[in-house]
Amino acid sequence: MTATQQHATARGDLLAHTPKDLFIDGDWVPATGGATFEVRDPANGELLCEVADASPADATAALDAAVAAQASWAAHPPRERGEVLRRAFEELMRRQEELAVLMTRENGKPLADARGEIAYAAEFFRWFSEEAVRIDGGYQVAPNGASRFLVMRQPVGPCIFVTPWNFPMAMGTRKIGPAIAAGCTMVIKPAHQTPLSMLALAGILKDAGLPPGVLNVVPATDAGGVVEPLIRDPRARKISFTGSTAVGRRLIEQSAQQVLRVSMELGGNAPFVVFDDADLDAAVDGAMTAKMRNMGEACTAANRIYAQRGVAEEFGRRLAERMSALRLGPGVEDSTQVGPLIDARAQEKVLTLVRDAVDRGARVVVGGDVPTDERLRSGHFFTPTVLRDVPWEARMSSEEIFGPVAPISTFDTEEEALAAANNTEYGLVSYVYTRDLARGLRMAEGLETGMVGLNQGLVSNPAAPFGGIKHSGVGREGGHTGIDEFLETKLVNIGF
Ligand code: NAP
Repeated sequence: MTATQQHATARGDLLAHTPKDLFIDGDWVPATGGATFEVRDPANGELLCEVADASPADATAALDAAVAAQASWAAHPPRERGEVLRRAFEELMRRQEELAVLMTRENGKPLADARGEIAYAAEFFRWFSEEAVRIDGGYQVAPNGASRFLVMRQPVGPCIFVTPWNFPMAMGTRKIGPAIAAGCTMVIKPAHQTPLSMLALAGILKDAGLPPGVLNVVPATDAGGVVEPLIRDPRARKISFTGSTAVGRRLIEQSAQQVLRVSMELGGNAPFVVFDDADLDAAVDGAMTAKMRNMGEACTAANRIYAQRGVAEEFGRRLAERMSALRLGPGVEDSTQVGPLIDARAQEKVLTLVRDAVDRGARVVVGGDVPTDERLRSGHFFTPTVLRDVPWEARMSSEEIFGPVAPISTFDTEEEALAAANNTEYGLVSYVYTRDLARGLRMAEGLETGMVGLNQGLVSNPAAPFGGIKHSGVGREGGHTGIDEFLETKLVNIGF
């Protein structure tokens, strides 16, 4: 038994008990022809298990089940829909530790991050269990008094969900929670690197009393081949996608044919702006959170750090100190603060972006390469890195780094900082540190992002609307508006 396996087993490894089949119409079923694919541990490349590999025909069978269940699920009392979510929330929290180990094994993130994600994921179920009974409508007298408007809100209908590997459970519950609450059925395709958390979640929802067909899970390696026919199927009414902007664009194009409702949570390129008057301790803490949550593999990760000239040196020094003190290792070990990146391609991309920045004049303050430690050789690790004087032309100024690399540039004026921050096609989130409230508000108003962290390195909260503008997406998840994505508004105009 390897050290990783021993750690995982000591923590009550769920791996052996997690279903590996497709979840269709309330049953666990193999893929057509028994096809499977491998799931590997990014900390050491070890084969964890094989999971059923859905074909387009399997995905269509999943949509058949979702369509068949739609009418009865929409008619289900909202209180009961909410109670399914509430029971699932409680079960997720009861099993937080074993689910965290499972997530760490397939994704690589340190256990502390995985525990945090289970709690975050579960909270969407609690939030939407409470929202299920608050779906309301309206009654209005027509301006000419000749009729009455009754406005009702109804579930959109069968949904298609596609989720990424970086938050394997929370990116699912953020869609599944409001869909269940609103009375929609769904087919979900998780990322091929991390299907296990979603399969475990399906088991929990089944045990919590979710009727067959409401949720269907189809892990697959042929993502495009499996998802496109669903999008083009006239019975589907909505697609909600979390992933890269490149894939999101393609799915929006495909959705045009059936005029599907579209929600897109796409890539980011978050600016993190530190003014001279900032509380520097808070700014460094915030930068560590905004940069290092999930090893930098987050759409909300601080991708470009702008420090005002008066504090740039000190801020850079303190950030470098904190980054170089982080311990790398397999996520299941208690001492680990930074786990491996998801795969070799991700590791190679981060290295390429760092080399490109250095070639264009950036200075490496700490890190800058893959670790040389023999123990970490078989995993996809990258050393926490701080770069100074990163020029705008560097690729990492316009591309998502998706790794533990903090590039710092210096600015002089507020106008310059705002212009630099907005100089990107993305618009998901930005961060600002200042003690001047008026300046903080001016920046918050001027920043072209769907979310702003003002003296705050973490903006995500299930009770708040999450989402981006520009090429970062369309729609919001969480908060009071999260359920709107799954409801249609219908007018009944009543003669009077
Ligand atoms: P990705 O390549 O776009 O993959 C995301 C999902 O889309 C996976 O399930 C993937 O399947 C699937 N997919 C890939 N090609 C597809 C196609 N042609 N048709 C249908 N589905 C397809 O993204 P990623 O690199 O895994 O994830 C990281 C990205 O997600 C980053 O850009 C990050 O910023 C973004 N993200 C955004 C948010 C947000 O809320 N805004 C949150 C988290 C992540 P496979 O598993 O087969 O690849």
